[in-house]
Amino acid sequence: MMMTTAMASAARPLAGRAALVTGGSRGIGAAIALRLAADGAAVALTYRHREDLAAGVVREIEEAGGRACALRADGADPEAVRASVAAAADRWGRLDILVNNAGAGVVGPFEGLALDEVDRVLATNVRGPFLAAQAAAAHLAEGGRIISIGSCMAERVAFPGGSLYATSKAALTGLTKALARELGPRGITVNLVHPGPIDTDMNPADGESAELQAGFTSLGTYGRPADVAATVAHLAGEGGRYITGAALAVDGGFAA
Ligand code: NDP
Repeated sequence: MMMTTAMASAARPLAGRAALVTGGSRGIGAAIALRLAADGAAVALTYRHREDLAAGVVREIEEAGGRACALRADGADPEAVRASVAAAADRWGRLDILVNNAGAGVVGPFEGLALDEVDRVLATNVRGPFLAAQAAAAHLAEGGRIISIGSCMAERVAFPGGSLYATSKAALTGLTKALARELGPRGITVNLVHPGPIDTDMNPADGESAELQAGFTSLGTYGRPADVAATVAHLAGEGGRYITGAALAVDGGFAA
């Protein structure tokens, strides 16, 4: 049977588009990179330490017929962040989608948080996405997308120890809304996705506090990285055309 143009574009809705996914070597970022590539986008992904895992994600995308490259870039390093955006745009000759996924998780009593830890988490979770969006905005054309990965902890801090993490993720709400206003006239959408407990190295479903976290969701269970990736893909595609300044929860009802 011959595939019609409409069928082909439905199968690969992001064909011809180029994406940068920060923190794409593992967990949620890897799932997003794989999903955007499966939808047809050329994907650059960043990593901090795990070059081997980043190369594995690139290989998996290429073996499936997609295009991908890996870039080392610590999200806490301003120059590395800017350079990674420039390198992605250079590599693909364009940039259409930025996914700010790289993030530092930290849980601990408020009084005990050291200054360097506060700086590290804010640099990674807030300044990194801010600078990446700033650098990406110079490349994005009409139809461009900026999608940041927040956290259900930005909406509901269900247990103690989340002061720094929740502060950092809540800051992305301001960034998302302000950029939606600023970039809207250019036809660029800016959104936030709040995952609930998702089974990754950062938050394994068999970890110490897993039962507690799952118990705070409505569904009573952890989500998978691919669950978050599906919503990112929706926002990145034509279905996200009229969604901007929004926060979409993929949290199993954590915030309900
Ligand atoms: P993982 O720890 O499983 O993976 C982290 C990924 O980000 C890796 O690719 C890692 O690279 C990269 N990374 C970490 N720090 C940096 C940095 N400073 N600069 C660049 N890359 C970095 O995390 P998750 O997949 O669980 O989390 C992804 C995002 O989702 C984060 O923003 C997190 O806050 C958020 N989130 C996660 C939830 C969960 O339950 N898992 C819940 C809510 C939000 P490398 O492999 O090189 O170390």
